[in-house]
Amino acid sequence: MGNSDEYQKLGMGRSITRRDFLNGVAVGVTGAYAALNGPNVFAAQQPSSGKNESSDAANYPPLRSALRGNYPDAVAEFDHIHEGKYTEFPVADNEIHEEYDLVIVGAGISGLSAAHFYRTALGTDRRILILDNHDDFGGHAKRNEFHYQGRTFIGFGGTMAIATVYPYSYGAKALLKELGVAVERYPEFVNHELETKYSLASAMFFDKEHFGEDRVVAGHGRLPWKDFFAKAPLSDAARNDLIRLHGKNPDYMAGLTVEEKKAKLAKISYQDYLLNIAKMDPGALPVFLGDGERNNKRVDTMPALEAAQHDAVGFNGLGLKLGASYNEGSFFFHFPDGNASIARLLVGKLIPAALPAQQSMDTIVQASLDYAKLDEPNSRMRIRLSSPVIRVQHEGSPETAAWVKIAYRRDGQLYAVRARNCILACYNRLIPSLIPEIPSRQKEALEYPVKVPMMYTNVLLKRWTAFQKLGVSRFSAPGMYYPYVSLDPGTKVGGYEGVTTPDQPILVHMIANPNKPGLARKEQNRIGQQELLSTTFEQFELQIRQQLGRMLAAGGFDPAEDIVAITVNRWPYGYAYTYDSLADPDVPIEQRPHIIGRQRFGLVSIANSDAGAAAFTNQAMDEANRAVQELLVRQGLT
Ligand SMILES: Cc1cc2nc3c(=O)[nH]c(=O)nc-3n(C[C@H](O)[C@H](O)[C@H](O)COP(=O)(O)OP(=O)(O)OC[C@H]3O[C@@H](n4cnc5c(N)ncnc54)[C@H](O)[C@@H]3O)c2cc1C
Repeated sequence: MGNSDEYQKLGMGRSITRRDFLNGVAVGVTGAYAALNGPNVFAAQQPSSGKNESSDAANYPPLRSALRGNYPDAVAEFDHIHEGKYTEFPVADNEIHEEYDLVIVGAGISGLSAAHFYRTALGTDRRILILDNHDDFGGHAKRNEFHYQGRTFIGFGGTMAIATVYPYSYGAKALLKELGVAVERYPEFVNHELETKYSLASAMFFDKEHFGEDRVVAGHGRLPWKDFFAKAPLSDAARNDLIRLHGKNPDYMAGLTVEEKKAKLAKISYQDYLLNIAKMDPGALPVFLGDGERNNKRVDTMPALEAAQHDAVGFNGLGLKLGASYNEGSFFFHFPDGNASIARLLVGKLIPAALPAQQSMDTIVQASLDYAKLDEPNSRMRIRLSSPVIRVQHEGSPETAAWVKIAYRRDGQLYAVRARNCILACYNRLIPSLIPEIPSRQKEALEYPVKVPMMYTNVLLKRWTAFQKLGVSRFSAPGMYYPYVSLDPGTKVGGYEGVTTPDQPILVHMIANPNKPGLARKEQNRIGQQELLSTTFEQFELQIRQQLGRMLAAGGFDPAEDIVAITVNRWPYGYAYTYDSLADPDVPIEQRPHIIGRQRFGLVSIANSDAGAAAFTNQAMDEANRAVQELLVRQGLT
């Protein structure tokens, strides 16, 4: 932690004054929420732009600030569940009062989609309850909102976009269509003003810990590599090798057939390839730090073959003939709050009273959602938030039971409901502890994956003149705590105006994947999870202020004055685990753990993107569809 002078310079501890001055959220908010956020919260809010006039953070979760994502209260029960505290079903049968056709555990895209598919198949008169441990629905698809200077600023706290390496299935595309989302309209809304009007580009920030001095080099990916690396603080050997690797490479594996090359590349890391096959100077390696393709596959854990498939540098002389990969950009859409807009559209379908009528992709971004309507006693479709499920058990044998009971905690109390069917759209690793009766082979498979720790932080700046002066809209900062930092211009969907002039506020998006280079990927994930779970908001805040202060110093940035609000979305339980040729055995698909793990067990089906071993919204939808189909087949309803 810094000393007190540094604290003051960075603006640490200004929060209370600023919060009071701005008439912010903590004024008048007491109890658990205030305690959760502690004294360093400064969710700066002023009278809103009129979109959510009556909203404040007490009844509108997207406005909550400081630690979000898998915030501490939401996951407090997970350790107890894992430790086997609820081996016995914790609520007496005679205390169970609510009964449902279907109970869904998890209000992420998968859980919400499952409810939608079930109602589509069997009608809207079915009684459905969705339980989630967070105070907001959407799971990873999380909306962050800030009200400041009479405007609303919307950011994505998790799932950023409709984008996938696995093409959307017919079912997932049909669902998007039903929700009124037309991805082909993206060019209407995309916001290129930063690049066009203000001529901003990407930069790399070289930090003194890895490169001997702090230096911004703009023009990353735009300048010829020779000119770009000429400006970087590197040794001549490292610089020359980086220029070589970014250009036309010789065949470093000459003498091997294409198949032999591929087989070898599948079994070594990208780092091994760069250092030992392409003979890169080790002084150049820090440039690759932080470069993490999906799933914490970094330079040390990414199989070289996958790196080649992703067009990483150094392979173009090998003649690998990898074939054209699926073009992710061909099916892409980004709402300002990411796929939280999809979650909101789904909620609008499930519980129309929660949103004004006739929502569409054009209106949903700015629509006001009434959280009080989510769990109304007379509604046949209910979403109950802040309710972690701790135990699921059949009443009798899973093969013959007519009911399954589901226990959850809410406001410190234990409750239970009973259902004809249950879908677990939560996390695979938790399932064996939620329902310990599951066969041991299936349990083992469910425990195989380790979700990827991730952090998406949104920082509201009073102005972004520092970015403009540097000519930069986004940084990659290899080796720093947040390797990616970017202005978030927002998409102009439904009249939302994200970009402002440089003297006006804007959101900055910062991405980190805590890990421990050198270890196996799953081990890195575990360590990263622990790091996220044990770091306080104050520690994150200090990192953020220090990093932005250093990167933007030459642009005149003042962290104390320019930072208005911070929302740290920590996701120790982030992306679903996906396999790779370095870390996972090469077995036929039917022997993969996610296939063995997701089998229906009695009245219980398993959804969620973990069940698809793929961290994508379309997978979450597809797994929901499969889980619902399984329940229908079991009941002979197809
Ligand atoms: C930071 C981040 C960025 C991403 N970006 C993208 C992207 O751009 N595009 C893309 O397609 N995908 C992206 N993803 C992947 C994302 O996981 C999927 O797109 C999708 O949102 C997953 O939905 P899900 O419902 O399967 O899981 P989740 O969103 O994880 O939802 C599961 C829900 O179950 C809840 N739950 C767990 N245990 C319990 C319990 N015991 N009781 C009650 N509730 C419980 C969880 O808290 C959560 O709310 C991103 C993920 C992260 C973390």
